Amino acid sequence: MNAPDMRRQSCLPLHRAEDFPILERPVRGKRLVYLDNGATTQKPEAVIEAERRFYRESNANIHRGVHWLSQHATDLYEQGRETVRRFLNAARAEEIVFTRGTTEAINLVAQSWGRANLKAGDEIVLTAMEHHSNIVPWQLLCAETGAELRVVPINDRGELDLDAYVALLNERTRLVAVAHVSNALGTVNPVQDIAARAKAVGALVLVDGAQAVAHMPVDVQAIGCDFYAFSAHKLYGPTGIGALYARWDVLRGMPPWQGGGDMIRTVSFEGSTWADPPQRFEAGTPNIAGVVGMAAAIDYVSAIGLERIAAHEHALLEYATEAVCKLPGVRLIGTAREKASILSFMVDGIHPHDRGTILDMEGIAIRAGHHCAMPVMKRFGIPGTARASFALYNDERDVEALVAGIRKAQAMFDGGAAR
Ligand code: PMP
Repeated sequence: MNAPDMRRQSCLPLHRAEDFPILERPVRGKRLVYLDNGATTQKPEAVIEAERRFYRESNANIHRGVHWLSQHATDLYEQGRETVRRFLNAARAEEIVFTRGTTEAINLVAQSWGRANLKAGDEIVLTAMEHHSNIVPWQLLCAETGAELRVVPINDRGELDLDAYVALLNERTRLVAVAHVSNALGTVNPVQDIAARAKAVGALVLVDGAQAVAHMPVDVQAIGCDFYAFSAHKLYGPTGIGALYARWDVLRGMPPWQGGGDMIRTVSFEGSTWADPPQRFEAGTPNIAGVVGMAAAIDYVSAIGLERIAAHEHALLEYATEAVCKLPGVRLIGTAREKASILSFMVDGIHPHDRGTILDMEGIAIRAGHHCAMPVMKRFGIPGTARASFALYNDERDVEALVAGIRKAQAMFDGGAAR
């Protein structure tokens, strides 16, 4: 079999058409070409049905009631924790804290671990390719504690400068917080090496896995990180739910960050005591149906296999990279050797927003702008990019539609310029 045939085969979609009902709906009278998966993925029937079934058959508040339904809902919620544990290969289920998503997970670490452990002069190492949600919580923490940020630069391909990273590490480094996969560039960072280097100076490591978990197998013990954050909605699950993995030795010493029901052991007006983790960090009634939906999403991708998803998306990314680069006046932003599922690009003479709007008229959903990564845009001296991001249900037809859409946008702008 020659190379193109192999590629064609591996680009075959991994799902059944009926799995994703929304992909069957037309948009603006055209077939929907959904390439905004970096922002959020579409949901399979299995996830939609799991949430529906929860509300129809199992709804009750958890950890509180003595009645059967409450126990049943609690069991489903705690089974969801075990599903996340297995998915990330955490050592124990108590290391999984449910949050609203990646953003809340990072804020939890900053507000709980950070406020308790950092002082003036301590350093937090970030990278120049972080999403705002892995920058701003640390800035807020630095303003409170007097700790300082250090930023690892990136090269023209959008890869971390690892020599510069090592040079930044010292005995004042308390935390290294890094994206597993950059949402603006698609770069896959060598998080295992990064963690090992951080450990050598006694720093903790937080990995922002928002753009990784849907695209590759993740093993937090193999990575060697202390914290790993992700959102279910980028993993074919519901919005408003996600998880923080925190290594038990670190998590058990962390103080609460939000107070309320469920996170206490005792409450009196003289003072209160706290439940053990993870409950200590789950104040109030959580998103129970969301946990059930997230577990269904994890089961869905696990049944297909993260390795297969990674291979499929990699083939698609290569095909798209080749096709888009052949277009005149198109420049990729982010050409790292290790990339996952994200194609960010500029088209000469067309603002990213105009490009997004013209593609939208064709039923093609991409993202245009700074992608909540303004420092990346500054690094490359651009206002924003157009970003196509792939999921397991995309195929070559989607790439071909994207290329045709870009051509059309170019023709419109060339025509406009000529008039
Ligand atoms: N980090 C990265 C790398 C992301 O891509 C995103 C979402 N775009 C986030 C964090 C924040 O995720 P959420 O909005 O789901 O909390």
